[in-house]
Amino acid sequence: MHYPFQLQPLPYAYDAMEPFIDAKTMEIHHSKHVQTYVDNLNKALENQPDYQSWPLERLLYNLEQLPQAIQAPVRNSGGGVYNHNLYFNIMAPGGKPLAQGSLKAAIERDFGAVEELLAQLKAAGLSVFGSGWAWLVADGTGRLSIYKTPNQDTQIPANLTPVINLDVWEHAYYLKVQNRRAEYIDNWFNVIDWEAAQRNYSKFGETDFSTI
Ligand code: MN
Repeated sequence: MHYPFQLQPLPYAYDAMEPFIDAKTMEIHHSKHVQTYVDNLNKALENQPDYQSWPLERLLYNLEQLPQAIQAPVRNSGGGVYNHNLYFNIMAPGGKPLAQGSLKAAIERDFGAVEELLAQLKAAGLSVFGSGWAWLVADGTGRLSIYKTPNQDTQIPANLTPVINLDVWEHAYYLKVQNRRAEYIDNWFNVIDWEAAQRNYSKFGETDFSTI
């Protein structure tokens, strides 16, 4: 995936996350917020032919090598595109259960139980000041940890494999639950696609953003 970037279609309808995440929030989030990130990322790169063939991950890993003028827009809008592509792909109508497998085993090894992981992910999401993301990430050996990023920063510079990312920008919940981020997080836990999370986790050994 490289310039010109396109809005990745959702693999479900806007109302598919009801009653946990309302259709209006999903529609505005995807068709307005994410579209704006896509447009601004393309705008940043339109006069930068040297970087138009770079995959998004490569742009985000090598931010400091980019021309000064596009570092901030690539970081913010490119990060916005990357983060939301992950986010919308680890959601499914009604969620999908965590089956026996390498992710479940790793969660039990590193957190004790799924409930404890979710408690820590929620705490991380609540502790993001302003806008940002809470993550479940894996290192190169498969060890899991909770991670946080401000704004639209990603886990890519830390070379970590994303498993789950939780959007805690107000635009992800304000229409339905106003300022009640905790309520949004509790609702969101009902739509996690754990099969997708398992697929993400399975990539930990082959993820090295420095080589993309
Ligand atoms: Mn968002």
